[in-house]
Amino acid sequence: MTIEAKTEPDGNIFDDAIKRLDRAFEFAAIDAEAVERLKHPRVIVQVAVPVRMDDGSLRIFEAYRVRHNDSRGPGKGGVRFHPDVNLHEVKALAFWMTCKCAVVGIPYGGAKGGVTVNPKDLSRLELERLSRGFIRQIGEFIGPETDIPAPDVYTNAMIMGWMMDEYSKMQGQRTPAVITGKPIPLGGSLGREDATGRGAYYCIKELEARKGWDPGRTRVAVQGFGNAGQHVARLLHEDGYRVVAVSDSKGGIFKQDGFDIPSLIRFKNESRQLKAVYCDGSVCEVVDASTISNEELLSLDVDVLVPAALENVITGENAGRVKAPVIVEVANGPTTSDGDAVLKDAGKIVVPDILANAGGVTVSYFEWVQNKQGYYWTEPQVQERLQEIMSRAFDAISQLADRHGIDMRTAAYAHALTRIGEAIEAVGTQSYFQGGP
Ligand code: NAD
Repeated sequence: MTIEAKTEPDGNIFDDAIKRLDRAFEFAAIDAEAVERLKHPRVIVQVAVPVRMDDGSLRIFEAYRVRHNDSRGPGKGGVRFHPDVNLHEVKALAFWMTCKCAVVGIPYGGAKGGVTVNPKDLSRLELERLSRGFIRQIGEFIGPETDIPAPDVYTNAMIMGWMMDEYSKMQGQRTPAVITGKPIPLGGSLGREDATGRGAYYCIKELEARKGWDPGRTRVAVQGFGNAGQHVARLLHEDGYRVVAVSDSKGGIFKQDGFDIPSLIRFKNESRQLKAVYCDGSVCEVVDASTISNEELLSLDVDVLVPAALENVITGENAGRVKAPVIVEVANGPTTSDGDAVLKDAGKIVVPDILANAGGVTVSYFEWVQNKQGYYWTEPQVQERLQEIMSRAFDAISQLADRHGIDMRTAAYAHALTRIGEAIEAVGTQSYFQGGP
């Protein structure tokens, strides 16, 4: 199965994403004017990036940077390299970043970037030229106090290093705080690599404490085995959880007793595929695994389902087949609003993306702080501060959900909206200017 950034039948992914604002509005202390502001991204930049290919030919790549909102601080959000990248998707991803930063209470607005490219088709030198070319095109719109990129799907620390280096050349001075998710020698933070997976893991630990789960009896399926998916699977495995299914873009594997995740990670990263894991005799540990499709993975009889690949995989059409009682959204936007309604009616607990995957941006914030201070933290310090922020946000959202009898997604948006609203209202809304309360 291929997952595309497909649209809901009645609109595009951005329009679908902002529907959640209206739903959360009634539970948030926010002026209607502030909600209206959030329906319109503040800055949209679309550029064409020319790249000289290794064979001497020229290719032009469409690329975008969207700063959705900066009421609470500079825009913050990753850069995605993927063939399905389009402006609607980048706008939706930027909107989610605004909400996510507010959910965990870090002083940022939301932004996102993307290049429409299949990076697997490029050589390393072509990838470097594209990354640097993208920064040259959007350089005047980003900066440590305006908009701070980071990695996302199919971009990594090395690409962030090239981008920071290119921006620094443009500025005539080294500027590490312009980009996060950098390699450690270029000013990256310890603990950034596994931060997204770790943040989701802390959310699962919060659920475990509240529900009294026994990790050894708790079966987990993870869709997407990249940075985020691998780390959440690894941390759960280390804790005794049974990770019974994982998948990548080529399909998935299932094993009733659970996988030895470290060997899967090693194999995936060395061979670049999961498929080989069960058919290669050298990895006997998982020889009895069965292959499953990505669609089948979503409907497995497991206790926790972790979508950690791309958006729009749980839709109005397939949500009824999801058996897991708990869904922890590590990917951004894996559930459409139609899919969400089905999950809600079925009484599923959904830990929403803007909470579950906020660990990445939280440690990106730590990286930015360290770059600005020029003083670097230890990994235990990073992890301890991350856990404190994740647990505090999880607790606030659970309490809000319980207080109003609403799902965690609506509560997370209401929590975020209240914070964003405070910042927007602090510079004045209609009621202030007309002498109201
Ligand atoms: P990644 O590029 O490291 O990995 C993506 C994974 O998804 C790969 O295993 C890939 O094979 C798999 N994949 C791609 N297409 C697929 C398909 N059609 N079906 C199943 N699997 C498919 O990316 P990542 O950084 O792990 O990001 C994954 C998700 O997590 C994205 O939605 C991203 O926006 C979100 N996220 C990532 C971070 C982060 O810090 N990395 C932070 C927040 C959110």
